[in-house]
Order: sequence, then C-alpha cells, then structure tokens
Amino acid sequence: MITSRIPGFYKLSLEERRQVAAEALGIAPSELDAALAGGGLDPARADKTVENVIGTYALPLALGLNVKMNGRDYLAPMAVEEPSVVAAASAAARSVRDGGGFTAVADAPIMLAQIELDRVPDAHAAGRAIMAQERRLRALADASVPGLVSRGGGARHVEVRLLDGTAGAAWLVVHVHLDCRDAMGANLVNTVAEALGPELEALSGGRCGLRILSNLCDTRRVRALCRVPAAALAMEGRSGEEVRDGIVRASRFAERDPYRAATHNKGIMNGIDPVVIATGNDWRAVEAGAHAWAARGGHYAPLATWSVVNAETRDLSGVLASPAQFGWLQGRIELPLALGIVGGTLRVHEGAKAALALSGVASAQELAMLAASVGLASNLAALRALATVGIQRGHMALHARSVAIAAGAETDEVERVAARISELGAVTVEAAKAALTELRGEAAE
Ligand code: NAD
Repeated sequence: MITSRIPGFYKLSLEERRQVAAEALGIAPSELDAALAGGGLDPARADKTVENVIGTYALPLALGLNVKMNGRDYLAPMAVEEPSVVAAASAAARSVRDGGGFTAVADAPIMLAQIELDRVPDAHAAGRAIMAQERRLRALADASVPGLVSRGGGARHVEVRLLDGTAGAAWLVVHVHLDCRDAMGANLVNTVAEALGPELEALSGGRCGLRILSNLCDTRRVRALCRVPAAALAMEGRSGEEVRDGIVRASRFAERDPYRAATHNKGIMNGIDPVVIATGNDWRAVEAGAHAWAARGGHYAPLATWSVVNAETRDLSGVLASPAQFGWLQGRIELPLALGIVGGTLRVHEGAKAALALSGVASAQELAMLAASVGLASNLAALRALATVGIQRGHMALHARSVAIAAGAETDEVERVAARISELGAVTVEAAKAALTELRGEAAE
C-alpha cells in the first residue's frame, strides 16, 4: 500500500527520491532512469510527433505528497517550472489529511461533439427529424469508433440547440454525447462529428459547417471537497480560526470580483496543470474548459470556494456535516476535466507513462479526481499564505534557489547561497553571485 506521507522527502538527493519512486512502482531504479532519460521523450520520437522539431524541452518532474483521496494515498506527479508550487500543494495536502483527506467524484467521461448546421429552412422540423432518428444517429456514431465501443464507450445521447433563428433560416448545432471511457477523447469525438455531418445535413435540409468537439465538456465534471480542522490552519501566532476566516473572506472576494477570481483560479491551475502535463494530457484543452466553465454564468467566477462548516454544510453526496466538524474549513472545487490514461501523448512519451504509473490511478475519472484534489490543495496553500504572511515570503524562499542556480551555484552551494540571499532580503542574481564568490572564497581558505 503506497503512502504519500514521506517526511523528509525534500531533503533526499534526487537519486534517493527516484529510488522511493521506483519502489512505489515496483520497478528497478534503472528502469525509471531509462523512462525519464532526456525528459522522457527521445528526440527521434519527438521528431515523429510534431513538425519542424529541433529538440525536446524539459520541465522538472516532482511528486506532490500527502495526498489522500477517497481514503487512499496518492503520489501526485507534477511537471512544473514554478518554484514553490509542489511544496505548497504538498503542505496544504498535509493539513487536509488532518481532516481525513479529499473526497472526490467524477461524472462519466462524456465528451461533446458539435456539428454545426446553418441555412436550415425550418428549425423545428429539423429538430424533430433529427431527434426521431436519434437511435440511428447513435448507431452511425458508434460504427465510426468501433474500438471505443468494444471497450464499453460510444454515443449516449443526441441534442439539438438553436443558435439563431431570426434570418429566415435557422442556425443549429447538434451535440452528440460520447462516452470516451479512459481516453481524453478529442480525436474520437472529432471522428464521430465528421461521420455524422452528411446525415445531419440531409435530415436538417441545411448546410453542415464545423464538426469538432467542444472543450467546454460540462458533461465531464469532477468535484472534490476537503474539510480541515481550524487548529490545523494555525500559523505564526495566528489562531486557526483567524486563518480560516481569512481564507473564507478571500473566497468571497473571488466570488465578487473577476479580477481576483482570475488569480484565484490561476492558483488552482498551479496544482491541476502540472498533473495534467506530467501525465501527458492536453493542458490547453483543460485550461479552455476550466475558464469557459468559470464564466458559465456570464460572470467569471472561482472554480473553488471556501466556507466554515456548520449545521447546513453538506458533503459531495449531500450528507450534512457532523457537529464534530462544525467550525472546520471546507473547500469545494468543481470543473470539467477531460483527461485520458490511454492514447494521445501517452503513446509516445515514456516519461508521461512513468508519471501516470506513479499516480497509481486506474481510470481517467480517478486521474481527474486526483488533479482536482491537487488543484484544491494549491488553492488552499495560496489563500492561506495570502490571508496571513502574504505570498511573497514562501515564493521568494524557493525562488532564491533558482536565482542561486542562475548565478552559477552548484550542488550543495545552491541551498547555502539561497539561504544567504534570503537572509539578506536580496533575491537577485547579483547578490547570489556575490554570496557564491564569498562562499567559494571561504571554502578555498
Ligand atoms: P486517441 O486518438 O489516441 O484515441 C484514443 C484511442 O485509445 C482510441 O483508438 C481508443 O479506441 C483507444 N483506447 C484504448 N483503450 C481505451 C480505453 N480504455 N478507453 C477509451 N479508449 C481506449 O486520443 P483521444 O483521446 O481521442 O484524443 C486525445 C488527443 O487529441 C490529445 O493528444 C489532444 O491533444 C488531441 N486533440 C485535442 C483537441 C482539442 O482539445 N480541441 C483537438 C484535436 C486533437
């Protein structure tokens, strides 16, 4: 049984951490070394993946720790270049553990194909004709993706939406709901959309236009929730209640102000995107879906909100909180997440395959729940810092390490130079160079 609570993991050397990861995977460290070599993607393969390739581009791959979700521990693979993201998410997940961890649920992996029909002479007649043929349309859709159907997926539902019906001829869009099982599904959905175009054109009497998926896959949403005892939030002379109330106030601020909500959601994507990227998933698709969902009410809103648990607070199943949890902090996130554990980049990227294996998830839905939980942890970390000491302190401490590296510090010099410039409150390359010269001078004496 994997534990994601590994005290002192950050103090281990990179090789030692890899050893822990290899053990978690049940493989030899040399196998993991091979999978992660060159960032997990060999240039020859990269050359066959996209066009005009001149190399590959690496990002740090780290493990988010302390994540417990639905009673199970997970190592969260995170590919990210921004200092402090992994540490902050892991620290927040540690507090969430004190309240029992995250609970999460995911919708069935239903994606939406859009088939645009314009110059439709009679919208109502077209809608009726299309819906009367729903069963045949679903069969046509299924016939275009037999591999998916053999794995239990396929078309589930057809709907017709009117975009504009004013100019003598209507403009419609047909949505086909496709269960993509463990795939992200974009290519599958596009195949279905193109397969149905001619038939829909004939049924509607209009002209078939665009045929492609919608990245606003609001049929494929994930929800995660956490409850944290107020005491677990106390920090630096501030009571847990004070920190909790600061976080709740920050949440209300994001609910009222789209300028704040954008940054609030960026903090959430700080946790989600690294998991998405590490596991070879399409982060542009995830970002597009998340922000379209955030703006669904015509007002850009936070993807996660925070409140104080009381007698009216319900969990994801609608069950009321127990009195023992009254006064705790509750966070709740909801967003569409189209993630896959097969196909796409995972066909070619050895590093992504290893990261996915490390996550220990068995389905696309479970991966989405894990990513949402890490997103909620990142949000908690950011709000806790913002509501107390401010975001810069933690950021700068970790940023100091990148600055030390930029100044030429190597191996154990990095920590020492970073500590020195942080102490001085001068996190600049110039200060780091001076500290490095001083350190090397001392070592030479
Ligand atoms: P894909 O083309 O690799 O298709 C998935 C394949 O996996 C299918 O052939 C399916 O039959 C097979 N499969 C094996 N086991 C499966 C299982 N358990 N469940 C489901 N399918 C299984 O990938 P995709 O998921 O259709 O498309 C994802 C790719 O499409 C990504 O690389 C994405 O970047 C890209 N894309 C995205 C957009 C967009 O988001 N707008 C548009 C076009 C393409």
